[in-house]
Amino acid sequence: MGKKKFHLVVYPERCKECGICMAFCPQKNLAAGEDGRPVVINPEACTGCRQCEYYCPDFAIRIEQEDVE
Ligand code: SF4
Ligand code: SF4
Repeated sequence: MGKKKFHLVVYPERCKECGICMAFCPQKNLAAGEDGRPVVINPEACTGCRQCEYYCPDFAIRIEQEDVE
C-alpha cells in the first residue's frame, strides 16, 4: 500500500468565503487566505477525510488524491 497525498482544489468563482469548510476541518487545517478563500495550512496534515468537500454549500472544494511511493 503506497502513501497518499491530498490536494485542495478551490473553485474561486463558487466560493463565497463563508468559512464553513474551515470550521469543519477536523484537523483545523484550513485557514482563510488573503482573498478569504480556504488555504491548507499544512499539506502533510490533511487526512483526505473530505469533510470540507461535503460541507461546502457551494461545491467550491474538491479534494484530489495522489498516490505516492
Ligand atoms: S480533507 Fe479533511 S483534513 Fe483535509 S482539508 Fe478537508 S476537512 Fe481538512
Ligand atoms: S465552505 Fe465553500 S464557500 Fe464557504 S469558504 Fe469554504 S470553499 Fe468557500
